This record gives sequence, C-alpha cells and structure tokens, in this order.
Amino acid sequence: MQPFSYAPVADAAAAALRARAGASFIAGGTDMLQLLQENVLQPDELADLNGLPLAGITEEADGALRIGALTKLQEAADHPLLRERHPVVAEALDATASPMVRHMATVGGNLLQRTRCLYFRDVSTPCNKRQPGSGCSALEGENRHNAILGGSEHCIAVQPSDLPVALVAVDAEVLARNTDGAERWIPVGGFHRLPGDTPEIETALKPGDLILAIRIPAHAARWRSHYVKVRDRASFAWALCSAAVALRLDEQGRVAEVRIAAGGVATKPWRLPRVEQELLGHRLDRDRVRLSAVWASEGAVTRTGNAYKAPMLQHTVERALIELGGLA
Ligand SMILES: Cc1cc2nc3c(=O)[nH]c(=O)nc-3n(C[C@H](O)[C@H](O)[C@H](O)COP(=O)(O)OP(=O)(O)OC[C@H]3O[C@@H](n4cnc5c(N)ncnc54)[C@H](O)[C@@H]3O)c2cc1C
Ligand code: SF4
Repeated sequence: MQPFSYAPVADAAAAALRARAGASFIAGGTDMLQLLQENVLQPDELADLNGLPLAGITEEADGALRIGALTKLQEAADHPLLRERHPVVAEALDATASPMVRHMATVGGNLLQRTRCLYFRDVSTPCNKRQPGSGCSALEGENRHNAILGGSEHCIAVQPSDLPVALVAVDAEVLARNTDGAERWIPVGGFHRLPGDTPEIETALKPGDLILAIRIPAHAARWRSHYVKVRDRASFAWALCSAAVALRLDEQGRVAEVRIAAGGVATKPWRLPRVEQELLGHRLDRDRVRLSAVWASEGAVTRTGNAYKAPMLQHTVERALIELGGLA
C-alpha cells in the first residue's frame, strides 16, 4: 500500500480536495480500504467525510424520504418509514453484505462501490477500467460474474451494488454538490454510466462532486414492491442476479404502474422496460408474469462463463413478480 495522508474535512474543503488529482474521499471505508490494500487505488491524500452532517433519514414536506449520504446501510435498513413504504429498498439492504459491513458502510459509498471484476482488483492483469487502454482480461477470461447487458468491447464489468437497483425501481434521485457549491439532482437510473469506450468513467459525478443525499419521491409509497437476490451463498455474497419490482394495481387488479430493475447482470442497474410494457394493463397472474419475464434478457450478450445469467434473470424477475403478487 502506498503511503497517504489522512484528514477529517469540513464541507467545502472536502469538495475542493477531491478535485485535486491524487486525493480521494473516504466514508465507511469498506470498499476503499480493500482497494488501497490491493494497490488498485493509490491516492496520496484521503479526506474523511464522517464529520459532515450528512447522516440520517427525514421525511420532507411533500412526503418524500431523504436519506443522508453518510447514513449507514444498517440504519437505513432498520428505519420504520423506509421498511413500511419501500420494502424493496429495505429488502435490498437486508441482502447486502453482512451486519458487520452494514454497520460501517454508507449509502453514498454503496452507490460508488467499484466493480468486483477479478481483473479490476488484480493489478498484474490488463484492465481498461483500472488502466485505460490496457485491454479487458474478462472478455476471454474468467467472466462468470461479468455482465450480459450494457457491456462494450472495452468492458463487461458488473456494477455490484444492491441498493441502487432497488432505488431505480422506486424512482429515486441522488443529490450531488460540485466544487463550486452548486447542487443538482440526478435520477438514480442515470447516475451510473455505460462503459462504452471509457469504462474508467463510471458515474455522472465530476471530480470533486460530493453525494449529499438520496431522495425517494412520495408517489413511490403508493407502490407495492419487492427485491429478490440470487447469489452463491445465503449471505456475504454479491448478486449473481437480482430483481427489484415496484408496481401499483388498479381497482380491477390490473397493473397500472410498474418499474422493474435488474442487478448483478449489467454494467449499471438495468431497467427492464419491455417487461414493464408486457405487464401494463394486465392482471397479475402466473401466465402474464411468465410471458412478460421472458423479455428480461432481451439484448443480452453472453460469454462462456456468464451464459447462465440470461435464463437466471428471467426466472429471478418471474419469482419477484410471483412473490409480490402472492401468486406462489
Ligand atoms: C465482505 C463484503 C461483502 C459485501 N457484500 C455486498 C453486497 O452483497 N452488496 C452490496 O451492494 N455491497 C456489498 N459490499 C460492499 C459494501 O456495501 C460497500 O463497500 C459499501 O457500501 C461502501 O460504502 P463505504 O461507506 O464503506 O464507502 P467507502 O469505501 O468509504 O468509499 C467508497 C467510494 O465512495 C466514495 N464516497 C463515499 N462517500 C461519498 C460521498 N458522500 N460523496 C462522494 N464520494 C463518496 C469514496 O471516495 C470511494 O470512492 C460488500 C463489502 C464487503 C467488504
Ligand atoms: S470487464 Fe472491465 S473491469 Fe473487468 S477486466 Fe474488463 S475492463 Fe477491467
């Protein structure tokens, strides 16, 4: 590990510091410390955000829920309003890591978790995301955990976080502040970028931007919602595949509104508009669910190691809808 200086920071100083090449923020440190130990990142300065007043969940005047960026994953998972109104988010948090990690990790840090691609974390191998232009070892290498959706010839790394998948389903936004102090809202669905030919640029944030909060709009509380995660072990494992579903049925029991996102299979939290379209206006029964879920893997590009993810995604979406609709 390369030596670095470390300092707690005040608001403006924190933003300005990160804008300087070589400096980085740290919150819970659960991802950052691994990346330092593995020499994937080598900042010369770490700015500790933990003294900033950005923790906690509050209800806004219009009924939206605002989750501060430094809120711990466990605190968010345990919050009664979040559990009652947005079960999909609470379930995604329950399925994240382990209790020990959830007590350290923050929601802002979770949005910015780096990929678990083996080669990204092994500095002895080529990786375009870690070292632009060096090549992608996963394309022909070990790619069991890599993406079948949203990849490019330069990178097929999965964005591995559970929380943003659920946040896409509830139409949430991220509040960011730039180094000039200007604040802007970014829909979670547009927060992560496709790799294209610049896989090293992963989000809509600019250097020095600070995540302040996440906001779940009041209208999402009208939706029933559910998260299903498929993984190698029952805990302490990232998703091979996950599905977040939020929907509202009308008085006749037909699907009036629906948002579905997938995780573990794509380079960013992956919305499934074709599945949504196949459900809209129909009663939520087993046949309709099965017919709709087959569209989940539309456009998938599979490789030797990850071809299993296409049928797994269809079954995971089907299972999430069946469990949500009480159709089991
Ligand atoms: C054993 C283990 C198992 C795990 N399993 C899962 C899992 O199943 N699902 C899952 O989703 N995650 C999992 N994780 C990942 C974990 O959830 C993330 O490491 C964690 O959420 C990151 O949050 P943090 O506060 O520790 O971030 P840090 O490690 O402190 O920082 C991560 C990144 O975010 C940046 N950052 C942090 N806060 C801000 C902010 N407010 N503004 C701007 N930049 C910021 C940092 O600069 C850094 O680049 C696991 C981790 C471990 C160690
Ligand atoms: S998939 Fe992306 S992160 Fe993995 S080796 Fe290729 S370029 Fe690197």
